[in-house]
Amino acid sequence: MAESYIPLNSLYRLPWSMPDNSITWLEPLAQCNLSCYGCYRKNIKDSHKPFEEVKHELDFIQSQRKSDCISIAGGEPLLYNNIIELVADIKSRGLKPIINTNGIALTKELLHKLKKAGVFGFTFHIDSKQGRGREEKWQGKNEVELNELRLHYAEMLAEEGGIACSFNSTVYDDTLQYVPELVDWAHKHIDIVDTMVFILFRYITPNVPFDFYAGDKKIEWDEVHYHSDHEEVVDIMAPDVVKKIRERFPDFTPSAYLNGTHRSDYFKWLLSERIGNKNKIFGYTGKKFMEFVMAGYHFFTDKYLSYASPKVTSLGRATMLNAWTFDKGVRGALKNYLKYIAVNPFRIFKKAHMQSILIIQPVDLLPNGDQNMCDGCPDITYWKDKDGTEKLVWSCRLEEPMQYGDFLHMVPKNKN
Ligand code: SF4
Repeated sequence: MAESYIPLNSLYRLPWSMPDNSITWLEPLAQCNLSCYGCYRKNIKDSHKPFEEVKHELDFIQSQRKSDCISIAGGEPLLYNNIIELVADIKSRGLKPIINTNGIALTKELLHKLKKAGVFGFTFHIDSKQGRGREEKWQGKNEVELNELRLHYAEMLAEEGGIACSFNSTVYDDTLQYVPELVDWAHKHIDIVDTMVFILFRYITPNVPFDFYAGDKKIEWDEVHYHSDHEEVVDIMAPDVVKKIRERFPDFTPSAYLNGTHRSDYFKWLLSERIGNKNKIFGYTGKKFMEFVMAGYHFFTDKYLSYASPKVTSLGRATMLNAWTFDKGVRGALKNYLKYIAVNPFRIFKKAHMQSILIIQPVDLLPNGDQNMCDGCPDITYWKDKDGTEKLVWSCRLEEPMQYGDFLHMVPKNKN
């Protein structure tokens, strides 16, 4: 594991739990128009769930859990036959509909209809291992070259207006080098990009030192959907990414986290919030600001905040002027801002924006066979067992109950 130079006491532990969370995951279909390396789900044609069934899943979710938003994923949610009705239904339940998409099926017309139906935000998954073969222009492009595609979607959303814009990319050993470039790109577009998410690649590889079992039935490692046929790095940790980003942005400072279910010192979700404009990042908020936002939002809405609207993220100046009294990070940002406008007072007319940088570290396989998941998993989703029991399960491992009827457990291999 990377050296731990992010002290736990410098971070706010996000207060999310199973029954009271900011996000919940919904999969109305498993079909996709891409076949990304590293995807956690099988691409299944004709897998559209009937709309009534999806509405039932939402009823169940709402009976089990408070949530600020619903991440509509899949599969590719824009291929779902009832996507407009689904967005409208989620909105009518008082939840924020967020679409997690690769963007391919998104046209201006569809975007307009989704906006009218109440879509709150989009998270575009774009990275260099998605096999964007049908879109010749993007074939073989690296993470930095794909910024042109990211910008296309960010501008599309900005033109429609009032929709939160986020980007996801899976980070592999050979693409970790590009993360600082992406963080820099996000800064240059801080006025239209609200969040950048880096998800660390996790697969099972041939030398995995565990045997896998579904109940008492042994499962071969290469039968598990998320496996790689060759050895590769599958244990990049969140601090490794922070270290990489700091090579270029030494001030980069996370302020909130989710720990692991089996390791309280692992950063499963590591969140940084920065304030700046297109020319300069003034600073990073600290843990008190994150606590104030989460607790304040919960006090008034009875939910924990997930996505913020572009209107709110453009309130960087107001944030600095109001939160400096209780947050050290915001105080630092305000100092830098005042120096910035002292050089040229007309700069006061430029807006300052907030932007989130999130690192997600999915399952860690611990030496004794424990699987260290995100404690207070935000991306939990609906599942119905063969015996009809409904429950909420980790979306990143949904293939296991689908294939084997249960989650797999692991036993260290006998090396003798
Ligand atoms: S446990 Fe899995 S599904 Fe839940 S937040 Fe972590 S990576 Fe996502």
